Order: sequence, then C-alpha cells, then structure tokens
Amino acid sequence: MDASPASGHPPSPHADRPRSLSTPLERLPGVGTARAEKLVRLELVTASDALMHFPREYRDFSGAHAFADFREGEHASIAGEVTSVAARTTAGGRPLLTVLLACNGGHVRGVWFNMPFMNRRFVAGMKVVFAGVPKKSGPNWEFSHPEVRWLSGEEQPHASDWLAIYPLAEGVPQAVVRAAVQAALVHAADLPAEAFPAEVLAAKSLLPIGEAFREIHCPSSQGMIDAARRRFVYQELFMLQLALRMHRERQQRDHAAPTIAVDTRLDSRILARFPFPLTPAQRRVCGEIVADMQSPRPMNRLLQGDVGSGKTAVAIYAMLAVAATPVKTGGIDSAAVAEEPTPGTKPAEKPLRYQAAIMAPTELLARQHMATLERLLAGSGVEVQLLVGGQPAKERKRVLARIQSGEVGIVVGTQALVCTEAAIFKNLGLVVIDEQHRFGVLQRATLQQGDTDPHVLVMTATPIPRTIAHAVYGDLDVSVLDEQPPGRQPVRTYRVGPEQLDQWWEFFCKKLAEGRQGYVVVPAVDESKRELASIASTLEALANGPLEAYRLGLVHGRLKPKEKAAIMDRFRAGEIDVLVATSVIEVGIDVPQATLMTILDADSFGLAQLHQLRGRVARGATQGICGAATQTADATIPRIDAFVSTTDGFALAEQDLLLRGPGELVGTRQSGAPPMYLADLLRDSTVVSEARRDALELFGRDPSLSDSSWSRLRELILKRWGEQLGLGQVG
Ligand code: ADP
Ligand code: MG
Repeated sequence: MDASPASGHPPSPHADRPRSLSTPLERLPGVGTARAEKLVRLELVTASDALMHFPREYRDFSGAHAFADFREGEHASIAGEVTSVAARTTAGGRPLLTVLLACNGGHVRGVWFNMPFMNRRFVAGMKVVFAGVPKKSGPNWEFSHPEVRWLSGEEQPHASDWLAIYPLAEGVPQAVVRAAVQAALVHAADLPAEAFPAEVLAAKSLLPIGEAFREIHCPSSQGMIDAARRRFVYQELFMLQLALRMHRERQQRDHAAPTIAVDTRLDSRILARFPFPLTPAQRRVCGEIVADMQSPRPMNRLLQGDVGSGKTAVAIYAMLAVAATPVKTGGIDSAAVAEEPTPGTKPAEKPLRYQAAIMAPTELLARQHMATLERLLAGSGVEVQLLVGGQPAKERKRVLARIQSGEVGIVVGTQALVCTEAAIFKNLGLVVIDEQHRFGVLQRATLQQGDTDPHVLVMTATPIPRTIAHAVYGDLDVSVLDEQPPGRQPVRTYRVGPEQLDQWWEFFCKKLAEGRQGYVVVPAVDESKRELASIASTLEALANGPLEAYRLGLVHGRLKPKEKAAIMDRFRAGEIDVLVATSVIEVGIDVPQATLMTILDADSFGLAQLHQLRGRVARGATQGICGAATQTADATIPRIDAFVSTTDGFALAEQDLLLRGPGELVGTRQSGAPPMYLADLLRDSTVVSEARRDALELFGRDPSLSDSSWSRLRELILKRWGEQLGLGQVG
C-alpha cells in the first residue's frame, strides 16, 4: 500500500489510477481521510465494503404525495419552495430551526432541534423535497428532522427518486455513508465478476451483478429495488446451499459419531423415568433423534418447540439413550437407566459409557435442569454433574475430574462453559444446546474432537419458518414439537390502557381472592441502583394501593442466588401471593400454581420476551390470565396487538422478525456477498425456495462445480465459506 494518507495530503483522484474493488475508500473522490476514518466504525474500508453495505430501507422522494395523502404516522414526501428559514433558541435552551415550504395547495413545516449547522443549508426560494413521517401540528403538517433532497435549478422531482437509508454506527452520519457508497459505485460497480452464467441469468430473470449493485443503492423504481434484492438473496442462498452440501458431503466422509441404538427395553426404561407419559409429538421427535443417532454420522438437528411444549423431556430421553450406550462395544446397557448398578458389579468393572451434555443459556436454567435430572434419575446408575461459573474452584476441579474419568453420564452446564471446555469429556456422544436463540451453522465446529464428533441437538422456542430453516441450515435437520402437553389452555391476554388500569387491578384481585397466585412484571434494563429504586417505589405503590390486601415479594437479578431462591421457595409454598419481578423470571421459573400476570409498561418488552414471560402462567391446568399494561390508550402498538391476538409462538416469532426488521441471519460481510437478512428472507420466501431447489439440482449434477461456467461461483463459495465450513480445496 502506498503512503499518501500518512503524508497528510488529500489524495488526488487520478483518472488513470487502476480501478479495483480493494481501493481504500479514502482514495475515492468525495470521501477523503476524515470520512474514511469514520467509516471504519462500520467496517467499511474498501470500495468493495461500501458496495456490500446494503440499504436498510428506502425513502420515497418522488414528492408525489399531496396533502390529501398524508396520514398520521405514515411515511410521505412532498416537494415545495422554501419561503422562510427561522432559527431560534427554545425556552429550554435548544437551538430550533424551522423551515417553511410552500407546496402545491398549502404549507408544510420542517423542524430541527440541536442541528444549528442545518441553518445555512436553506435559503428562501430553494426547491426541496421533504421526506419523513409528518405530524399534524395545528392546521399544518410538520416534519420533524425530515430527510431533505435539494432540487437543482429546474429539476423536477420524478417518480424514480428512491433514497437509500443505510445502517449506521455511532458518529457516522447517513450522508457520509451515502457519499462513500456513491463513490464506490462510480469507481467499482462494474468490477465484481458475474457469478452466474449468462443463460442462467436470463432463464432466472436475474439482474446482472453490476446493475444489481446500482439498483440496490440507487434504485430507478420500486420494481428495481425488488429485482436487485431478489438477485442478491437468490445468489446468497444459492451459494450457501451449495456450501452446506459440500460441507455435509465432507462431514459424512471424514467424521464419525458414536452409534447409539435404542431397543424397546431401553425405550420403556427411559419412559418409565418420567412422571408423565410423553405426548405423541415428543415421542415422534425422540424417534427422529434416535434414528439420527443410530447412524455413525453425527446428528445435527434443530428442535423447535413453543414455550412449555416439553423440549426438556425430549433432551433427557436422548441423553439417557447416550448414557446407556457402552463405548466401543456398541451394545446397549439399559440397566444403567433402570436401577442401581447391577448388584455385585464393582464400579471398576462397569463398562464405560458415552457421555451427554446439556448447555443452558443461564446459570438459573442450568440449575433447574440439574434439579429436574436429579429428581428423574434418583436411584439410577447415571451420574449427573453440574458445571457452572459460580462454583468454587475446588468443586469445579472435582467435577472436571469426574467428567474426565468418563464416569459422569450427563453434564449440565452453561453454554459458554461447556463450549470452551469441550476437551474435558472422555467420550462425548451428544451435546444438547438449550434455548439457542441466535442461529449459527458454524457452532458445531467448536465441538469437534479429533475425528469423532458428538451428535448435536439444538433446541429453541423462537423458531424460524420451516422453509427458511431448510434454506439456511441446509445441513441441519429440523424437528418440531407442535403439541402442548395435555390440559394446557391458551393464556387469556388483554391489553390494558391507562384508563383501564383500575378496573384491571380489581379483576386481578378478584382472581387472587379465588386463591390464585400471580406475577407483576416490571421492565428493567440494567437493574441499576436507580432502576431498582424505581422498582421499589412501584412495589410500594402496589402494596399501598391496588394490592394492599395481599402479600408481595420482590425478585430481581441483583439479588444473591440464595436470596432469590429463598423468595422463590416462599412463593412456591404459597407464602407470597404476588411476586413482583423484573424479567429475571423470563426463562426458567416454573411455578405451576401461579396463573396470573400483569406486565407493566409492556411496550418496553420485545415480542419474544413477552411471549416467554406469558409462558410462566401457562403451566398448570388452570387457565392463565395476562394483562399487558401500556402507557398509551388507543394508538396501535403492533407488537402488543400481535401479542394479545395470539398465543401461537410460531406466529409471533414470524411477526417478530417482520417487526424487528433486518436482523442479520448468517455470515458476515466477509467477502463476495452481502449479509443475509431474515426480514428479506421472509419477504422473499419464494426466492428462498427457488434458490434452494436450483442449488440442489446443480449439486446433483455437478457436485464439485467442475464445469467452467461455474468456476467464478465456486471461487466465491470457497472464499466466503471455505474456511468456516472446512471446505478446503473442493473437487
Ligand atoms: P420448554 O419446551 O419450554 O423447555 P419444558 O421442557 O420446561 O418446556 O416443559 C414445560 C413443563 O411441561 C414442565 O413443567 C414439564 O414437566 C411439563 N411437561 C413436559 N412434557 C410433559 C408431558 N408429556 N405431560 C405433562 N407435562 C409435561
Ligand atoms: Mg426449556
């Protein structure tokens, strides 16, 4: 790299400088060193990085909206002439800029707070377009901090003015990102090589790569935005699908896993351990898991099941099957699960069996799994050990030694811990990852040990739709627990506006008077001193107000585990009627007789979190009741309205993904392809299936992509996924 940036001189744009995707952004006209330094915060360093930095959304700047089309809360844009520019300071000392725009048929106002530098950008007589979400202010419409497009001379806003809005980082304004992307487009849009043969582009109606880059950043119409996105989503999934196929093929060739067989005797011995019969859905999924583990290839299965569907029981079934299988001989030792070690057998003669581990996201949940397993396995020959961060060093050493000796059948731990300590096992046969909310195709890599792999079962309550799961986890099999244990009833859920709150508490108390117990959930971000103080005053207000006739308790994350446990015990024993709690109760807590819940400031919780919270009162035979109290009375709050309208976790998960907008799903912007966003996948689900089908078809025909027309694609796949998926030199 040459030294021009260090010399402090602005880089001069040389027309003859060779154009390259790896050209540093600072060398591009309109970017420069200062902006380039900011862009690093978004990991944008080269022209290629900027090209790959895809817009989050688009604003319609066509200015076609008339006042009649303005709707409260909806995006709109309008063109007009600046008639006045007024800068003043508010009573609160904040600079306020007001720009009045004369439009066809009236006036609109644009206002900016704390942005004094905007003042000089407006002069009376200029023609501009405002875009944003207008609010009615008196008789006029007002835009607060609108996006602005300055129209030069006689330029008319035309229908193709779509402005890209980019994901930002702190201290990196939209304008800087936009300038970098524009410069990168001019410099390099036609440089990325086309991955698809021309006849495929034509047959699939895909935009050529250069055009796709131009249209994704500078769309000429809404239709072209869709076409460009379709091209990228198609390519991304096509590539991922092929990468996963190659990975799977390799995996099957190079890696072996223990063969775990379950005969009817072991099956009935395991089932006898549960205090309830497994539901048909649980039995079906256990069957799917056993079928996988019977093969000497590592299982890689995702289990999706709504909150309360009984995923733990399935995990325990699978772990017991593993813990009953002796190493090497491959025979079955179902006696292990049944009773005390066979009388007369000395421990030393006991055959070594495979080990299973379950990893929970929190220590609280790990401890709960431990308690469940100890209860279920009391008197059996399977040793269970807990491995969590909070253990004293000595205890931990002891546990590790037991695990290393191979005597421990089941290890319960937190995800972080067991992940980093995969080498502690003697004969790891199965890993269960509980409550995995973030998905990663790649996590199993950390679990590989030499050339035998454990089987892997990942469990989640926040499912992604099946078509997409298949597309994204080509090599991951999916099981679904689509049935709740018998007797469960959907929780009756209400939205409670401010003026209904009194009535709600009356109802809540009536139910308490019938002998029920309940929760009041209060939002907390960091459980800081200040926040805890405010929670304490909420508690006091409840204790001296609507809930004064009842015994209240308080739990939050800052309590010592012992204190927390003591309060939970009193709640469980019925000595506390209402537990006021932060979202520490979101996962894990299981008190079946508590069937009432009030969620205060429900709008400050995410949808998945609300659903998890509600799951706490859906455990027993009595129908749960949940009130979601909101600050506002009638405005729609999509999240809350969705929450109230259904208790179907799958439907909510889908809704959640759409509402949350683009969450990155897999991969990073490493090279060759943009990140994939779930929201796009949901929106474009037909492209998703199409890309998958086409990729599988190609793989069937030409598994190593040896045909020269695919060499560019093959190169891209290796560059992007090769290392992570261990593809090496495919073919
Ligand atoms: P999740 O899928 O949310 O992890 P759990 O495994 O914690 O659900 O199960 C929720 C509750 O349902 C637990 O109290 C568990 O004991 C109970 N349960 C699980 N399976 C059954 C069943 N087949 N019959 C009755 N109760 C069950
Ligand atoms: Mg669970």
